[in-house]
Amino acid sequence: MSLILVASNNKGKLREYRELLSPLGYQVVTPKDLNLDEEEIEENGTTYRENSLIKARYYRDLVDIPVISDDSGFEIDALGGFPGLYSARFAKEFDGDYERAGMALNAKLGARPRAARFRCTICYIKDRKSAPVFFEGDFPGLLLPHSSGHNGFGYDPFFHSTEYDLDMGHADEHVKNKISHRARALRKLLEYLSANA
Ligand code: IMP
Repeated sequence: MSLILVASNNKGKLREYRELLSPLGYQVVTPKDLNLDEEEIEENGTTYRENSLIKARYYRDLVDIPVISDDSGFEIDALGGFPGLYSARFAKEFDGDYERAGMALNAKLGARPRAARFRCTICYIKDRKSAPVFFEGDFPGLLLPHSSGHNGFGYDPFFHSTEYDLDMGHADEHVKNKISHRARALRKLLEYLSANA
């Protein structure tokens, strides 16, 4: 097994990464596992790409193993992509209560069209001599008027996948790990890793 640092302590995300990376022979370690400083890294980029790069560079300077970081968000088309980059910060306004955050997004949207999507950008840096590489995933669907189910994390219970006719709050974890925005970006990374081993 080769070690790879996934720059996140989000349990939901880590389960997704472990499930997808372990068949390729990667053992995922986290900043916590390596006792790395978990001080809040300032994600002050203006795109998912910039934020993922800020995190990946930060950890790349601290470890000698490949680093993966991602940045993701939930976007409502009729709100100009809001909350997008601010998805986590928007939920923080409700003390991290995604039920309230989802209902607040519904209130903002009113009667406008419900098209929405999750987006994810993954940044991979192999070592200190390597340039960063980016992979993107987009998972389109609809904002639900009420939460449905308790599976997943974050905004999942408010999201309906039109492609799979599935409320993500009811999706089994293994299913989500095959179809999510993160899975789509990660599959591109896996193809890259297989071709550039
Ligand atoms: P970050 O990429 O960890 O900064 O996440 C940004 C925000 O998007 C957080 O509020 C997450 O809860 C939300 N988010 C990211 N990925 C997902 C997902 O797969 N399901 C639900 N919410 C997500």
